[in-house]
Amino acid sequence: MLSSAQSNPKAATGNGNLVVISGPSGTGKTSICNLLLERLPQAVWSVSATTRPLRGSEAAGSSYEYIEPPDFDRRRANGEFLESAEYCGHWYGTPAAPVKRWIEQGKIVITEIDVQGGVQIASQMPNSCRIFVLPPDFDSLKARLEGRKTESADIMARRLQKADGEIAIARDSGCYQHFVTNDVLDDTVNEIIEIITG
Ligand code: 5GP
Repeated sequence: MLSSAQSNPKAATGNGNLVVISGPSGTGKTSICNLLLERLPQAVWSVSATTRPLRGSEAAGSSYEYIEPPDFDRRRANGEFLESAEYCGHWYGTPAAPVKRWIEQGKIVITEIDVQGGVQIASQMPNSCRIFVLPPDFDSLKARLEGRKTESADIMARRLQKADGEIAIARDSGCYQHFVTNDVLDDTVNEIIEIITG
């Protein structure tokens, strides 16, 4: 999981920006983000807050900040999130303060958020780089989700059901400048690095 690279101490470039990585559950976004953090010296990870319970091998504070719904509501009402959205019954939000600070410091802030959040970021931060990751096909998405074994059959089915709608919103909204198909992970990461640094 996303871990040690929350704040890479190497020098910033002076060209800070926010990079949004979105895509249906099971497309490999987390693996992509981990490799981006490893390979881009000025990249930092934006830790989202969520009301979802901790899952599998996740670690509090590095994968997510796990908070209770009333705490999430309060922070949301205070305007502490850059964007927030409900996904399969749980809330997720990007804390605004660290993102703004890092961008000022010239960092590349990597955030993995759903398509609703991507749409909000597109209107608030039009200069951000928004990338939507597609699965090669539906069967591989299903196989990957099943292989994770971290969700119940019911939750997995809900996540799979959402995939088509998420892809449609991403395409129809015009909020994503780039669509990348994650077939071979290493190739996908190289393609995304070219987009970010290009
Ligand atoms: P998961 O429960 O699998 O970690 O995440 C479920 C969905 O929520 C994924 O599509 C993930 O990208 C998205 N997500 C994670 N953090 C955030 C966030 O801060 N904001 C929004 N809008 N979505 C998020």
